[in-house]
Amino acid sequence: MSEGNLNKTNICDECGSEYYRDTSQMSSLCPECSYILYDYENCKHAFKDGRCIKCYWDGSKSLFSINITKKTKDDFYPLMKVTLNGECGVVTEEFVEVKDNIQQVGRTKLYGLICWDTNKQPDFEDWRGLWWTFVAQGGTELNNNHQFKFINDDGTSK
Ligand SMILES: [Zn+2]
Ligand SMILES: [Zn+2]
Repeated sequence: MSEGNLNKTNICDECGSEYYRDTSQMSSLCPECSYILYDYENCKHAFKDGRCIKCYWDGSKSLFSINITKKTKDDFYPLMKVTLNGECGVVTEEFVEVKDNIQQVGRTKLYGLICWDTNKQPDFEDWRGLWWTFVAQGGTELNNNHQFKFINDDGTSK
């Protein structure tokens, strides 16, 4: 980081990360969040020591952004409602870190620990990293309005 850049960082309103002001077209959002939320051009991130060397973004994602990006992501995300073989469940907020994947920002956390909506709580099943297997077996995302019987929307027992 050069000294000049030190004075030109902003805090992103959405994800809370610092970023270089002149890398984003929006005054209060980092390039990543302005891309996700408003379709502005994103930085072609290059990560080194946990930050992008171009825009200084630290890879933060708020839950809000994650929920927005779900429509274009082919993976589980936290609090996603899913169904498979007639059973319904919710993806918990527990994740495993994927360290060798660090350039693919936002996918460094692997979600997919599903809590199924059954009467034998807790009923967890670990599908982390297995999104395409899940889909191949007929699993799909449920409408977010789906009401569970035995669990709450965050996977805790009622
Ligand atoms: Zn941001
Ligand atoms: Zn960047």
